[in-house]
Amino acid sequence: MPCNCRSEEITVAAHCLLNPLTRVRGLAPVPFQPEGPTVQLPCPEALYLGLERWAVTRNQLDVPQFRRFCRTLIEPYADLLQMLAHEGASLRIVGLAGSPSCGVEMTSSGYTGGLPCGAEHVHVSGRGVFMEELLAELERRGVPFRAEEIGKK
Ligand code: SF4
Repeated sequence: MPCNCRSEEITVAAHCLLNPLTRVRGLAPVPFQPEGPTVQLPCPEALYLGLERWAVTRNQLDVPQFRRFCRTLIEPYADLLQMLAHEGASLRIVGLAGSPSCGVEMTSSGYTGGLPCGAEHVHVSGRGVFMEELLAELERRGVPFRAEEIGKK
């Protein structure tokens, strides 16, 4: 008798929770050990800016071209998540607290460009750009999910 394995919970994780090598250089890995099936989302910042990028804040990424890029990445994943949810899976989306791209409840603000000088940034309430686009796309499609974040300081 085949089991309906697709009815279980699926963790949908920000990329660097499983592969910390995409984080901005010098940032420590965030401990994360998902149980059960896990979908690893793409890392929008590494794919857009590369591995030698500077740390950025949400206001710097909140530009049309980065949002467009995020939506391009998101579309096939939203297709997959929609199909899995249609088969009965419950989706648990896990972002990274404070990230300008992947924060769910908390993101970052403060850098305004210019030469790198160690300027201060702060964590503020709100979603990162990539997560905002992903969750909005799932809502637009009527795909049920719950979203949380880890890594709060
Ligand atoms: S939080 Fe998102 S954008 Fe930042 S390194 Fe992790 S996966 Fe990439």
